[in-house]
Amino acid sequence: MAVTLSETQIERYSRHILLKQVGGKGQKKILESSVLLVGAGGLGSPAALYLAAAGVGKLGIVDFDKVDLSNLQRQPLHHTPDVGKPKVVSAAETIASLNPDVQVVPYTAKLTSENIMGVIAGYDVIVDGSDNFPTRYLVNDACVFAGKPLVHGSIFLFEGQATVFQPGKGCYRCLYPTPPPPGAVPSCQEVGVIGVLPGVVGLIQATEAIKLVLGIGTSLAGYLLVYDALDMEFHKVKLRRNAACPVCGDHPTVTKLIDYEQFCGVAVTADHGSHA
Ligand SMILES: [Zn+2]
Repeated sequence: MAVTLSETQIERYSRHILLKQVGGKGQKKILESSVLLVGAGGLGSPAALYLAAAGVGKLGIVDFDKVDLSNLQRQPLHHTPDVGKPKVVSAAETIASLNPDVQVVPYTAKLTSENIMGVIAGYDVIVDGSDNFPTRYLVNDACVFAGKPLVHGSIFLFEGQATVFQPGKGCYRCLYPTPPPPGAVPSCQEVGVIGVLPGVVGLIQATEAIKLVLGIGTSLAGYLLVYDALDMEFHKVKLRRNAACPVCGDHPTVTKLIDYEQFCGVAVTADHGSHA
């Protein structure tokens, strides 16, 4: 369905329309686009706010958690009165107030090998804002199988990472073939996180998602962007598709989706699985 910009939309998106790389045509593309956010936490919050402000027409949000007071230090999608609400409800309310052009599609179920292909099928771009390995590997493998572009982001202590995985050109397993052993990587709750860090990384993910939707610029595909918040340094590390990758390599050994929580030990529960 072709979108025609209304008078109020022309005003709302005027600073996009003024850009020659976007224009009215680009803004229509954004309004017709769909982006799935995995997680409405530290990474998903800034990404959701800016993707909604930009006018992404359909914003899917996956999160089974409720808003906790300790989330608010880094998750500005949720506000103090939202504590106790499901994150997808809080997210939908904030976004409705920010931009009524955006249709939020909430998913409160945990992503599993059973449901993920059906969820991602309806979206142009997948943005991974999860903070646990079972979800990260599941989303990666599903995007490889479905041929969907995946915008990856992750944070640890004062360091963030982001990249884009384009179908056929490498994936998260090219970098890290298998999840770390149980207990090897502490969760966000155990180590703490500086609140602004996921904001920066989540907005880099949102930037890449918008560029993919518009088909402009040079994406992070082929590079891992590493951000050190303490030293305020950004650097890019070259990434290549790994021919020995277990899922996208020449002789894949992972040929179906795996629900890692069964043996990974990073439990995805209401107590331990909240998104960064
Ligand atoms: Zn791969």
